[in-house]
Amino acid sequence: MPRQAALPLHTRIFIGLAVGLVLGLLCEFLFPGDERLKWVVSNIAYPIGQVFLRSIFMIVIPLIFTAIVLGVADLGDVGKIGRIGLKALLFTILITGISVVIGLVLVNVFQPGVGISEEGRSALLGALGNNQAVTGIVSSAGEAKTPIQTLVEIIPRNPLADAVNAFDPNYRGGGLLSVMFFALVFGIAMAMADKERTAPLLEVLQGVYDVIMKIIEFAMNLAPFGVAALIFSTAASLGLEVVFVLLKYVLVVIAALAIHQFGTYGLVVRYFAGLNPIKFFQSIQEVMLTAFSTSSSNATLPTSIRVAIDELKLNRDIANFMLTVGSTANQNGTALYEGVTVLFLAQFYGVNLTIGQQLTVVLLSILAGVGTAGVPGGSLPLVVLVLQTVNVPAEGIGIILGVDRLLDMCRTVVNVTGDIALAACVNASEADQAAPGEDVKPV
Ligand code: ASP
Repeated sequence: MPRQAALPLHTRIFIGLAVGLVLGLLCEFLFPGDERLKWVVSNIAYPIGQVFLRSIFMIVIPLIFTAIVLGVADLGDVGKIGRIGLKALLFTILITGISVVIGLVLVNVFQPGVGISEEGRSALLGALGNNQAVTGIVSSAGEAKTPIQTLVEIIPRNPLADAVNAFDPNYRGGGLLSVMFFALVFGIAMAMADKERTAPLLEVLQGVYDVIMKIIEFAMNLAPFGVAALIFSTAASLGLEVVFVLLKYVLVVIAALAIHQFGTYGLVVRYFAGLNPIKFFQSIQEVMLTAFSTSSSNATLPTSIRVAIDELKLNRDIANFMLTVGSTANQNGTALYEGVTVLFLAQFYGVNLTIGQQLTVVLLSILAGVGTAGVPGGSLPLVVLVLQTVNVPAEGIGIILGVDRLLDMCRTVVNVTGDIALAACVNASEADQAAPGEDVKPV
């Protein structure tokens, strides 16, 4: 008998959300504050959620290192890391920074995670507290660092120590941010080093990356159960509050993405690429639809390249290079979403983030945009990691994962549009520099 095709993962995760939510709400309604319910949350639902979370944690350090190095080292594909590579990197960091700030402004103004009753929150944190032995998570914001300290400590004294201690809430070094910084420098240096001699290293890194992606696949198969367990714990402690909060969160993410998509990119293509924004969005409709339906920048790449060359008339070399690198390394929508999500969950759990920690969130989100794979749900391991870095309970991922597919579709549109907008800007600036009649060649 032929095997029945399994439901797509996102559908299974959504079912996990629905089952966990309904059961949790029902239990909260029928047995509010009951000790037996607390026991079930602490001893059954939580450990199941932990199995899922830990299987993500275990691959995160090698994932971000290889993803960032490979993303940046690709800049070397144009021979030397020259004008185009540098422009691409600077533009990416600048525009991604703008996207994160838009997200953070909205989440601070609308405060989607605020409004959880003290009673509900202490029930929730109580469940967390009981499980600190399992999670190793503390729910306080930890000792504050000044913004200057945060910035200086990004440069690691010992990157290995930062990698080893990245999950330790009491570690005083740069942690994850330093690991990312080191990966960025490593990638840039690799792009500039002798290609022949570094080729084997590149292959090893690519191999590690591919294996890690496989492990993520295994872990994501646990997601429907992990999500059901985590949302059950939350709903059983908070009741209906959680539904309203989740709805507000979804609306804030979509509004912020829309502002960046049409506001920032509109201005960028108008002023840096000399294009009419309305015509620009009309010409890339097919790309936006493909990104929306596949939730994957990588899967959208062939369409993006074709449209950039045929519709926007970009130089072939520039379009190929910028869009290929961009589909992995330039993810504005993802960075925005990560910033909003981390702040939302901090509000949700009542964790006050200091200015230094908020700055860390901005920087981490920008770098996470570089380190995210352009595949559906590619950013989830990084969200878990950023949460952990600023001491917001990583269990929060269980609250948002069930609604993630819709947000993933929307942020992928923003990611891919960003790649094309960037390619158009670089194309225009290179055309300005080329002498009349000269081909625009990456230097
Ligand atoms: N799905 C996104 C992309 O491919 C990545 C993510 O944010 O999960 O661009």
